[in-house]
Amino acid sequence: MRKPYIVGNWKMNLDIQQGVELAAGLTFSEYNSDAVDVAIAPSFVSLAPINYYLNDNNSTVALAAQNVSEHEEGAFTGEVSVSMLKSAGVSTIIVGHSERRAIYNEDDEAINKKLRIALSNGFEVILCVGETLFQRDADAAYDVVLSQIALGLNDVPIDKIERVTVAYEPVWAIGTGKTATPADAQKMHAAIREKLKSLYGPVMAGKIRILYGGSVKPQNIKGLMNQPDVDGALVGGASLKYEDFLSIINYND
Ligand code: PEP
Repeated sequence: MRKPYIVGNWKMNLDIQQGVELAAGLTFSEYNSDAVDVAIAPSFVSLAPINYYLNDNNSTVALAAQNVSEHEEGAFTGEVSVSMLKSAGVSTIIVGHSERRAIYNEDDEAINKKLRIALSNGFEVILCVGETLFQRDADAAYDVVLSQIALGLNDVPIDKIERVTVAYEPVWAIGTGKTATPADAQKMHAAIREKLKSLYGPVMAGKIRILYGGSVKPQNIKGLMNQPDVDGALVGGASLKYEDFLSIINYND
C-alpha cells in the first residue's frame, strides 16, 4: 500500500516571510499525517528559515529543494550543493523538473548525476518526467517518458530506489490550466510502473510512488487520486494558495 504524497513546488515565488507564513499555516492546519505525506519546496533562500519554523513546531510537513548541483563542492558559482541542503534541513530533492530541462538545458545525464549524488547523500528524490505537446502530438509521449525514466535512473541500485518518487508531469499541462484526464494519467502511470518493474522487479515497483503534476487543483485532485497508479500530486500554482493546497491535501474529505 503506497501512502499518498502531496508536494508543493513553489518555484520562484514567495519571499522568506511569505514562505514561513505559508509553512506555518500548513503546520497548524487540519490534515491527517498518518493518511498523507506532505512536502513543500520553497526557494533556496527560504529553506533554512522555514526549516527552523517546521522543527520548532514539530511540523509533519517535509522540506524539499527544487534543484541541486551535480557536484559535491567547488568553483561552481551560483550552485547549491547536497551538503548545503542537508545543513538547511532538506530531506527531499526534486530533479528533472521540466523548467530545469527546458530553460536551463538540463539533459538526462545531468539529471541522473543530480539524482545519484542526492541518493548517495541520504536524500529522498523526486524525479520529474514528462512529454511536450509536440512529442505527444507526434505519438512519442511514451517513448520520451520511459526513456527519461531509464536514463534518469541509470546506475541507481535496487537498495536506493525506494527513496525515489517519480513525478509524471506532462509539460503541456504545467501552469496552463490543462490537465491530463484521470484516464490519460493512469495510462502513463501504469506504463511507468511497468518500466520500473522491468528495472527493479514487481515488488519494488509496487512500492515506488508515482505522482501526477500539471494544473492540479482542488477540483481535479479527487479524480486523479482515484486512479490505481496515481499516488499523489506535485502541485505548482495551487500550492501557493493555502486554502487550495490544503483542500488538495485533504482530497479525501
Ligand atoms: C509544477 O511546476 O510542477 C506544476 C505541476 O505546476 P502547476 O501545478 O502550476 O501546473
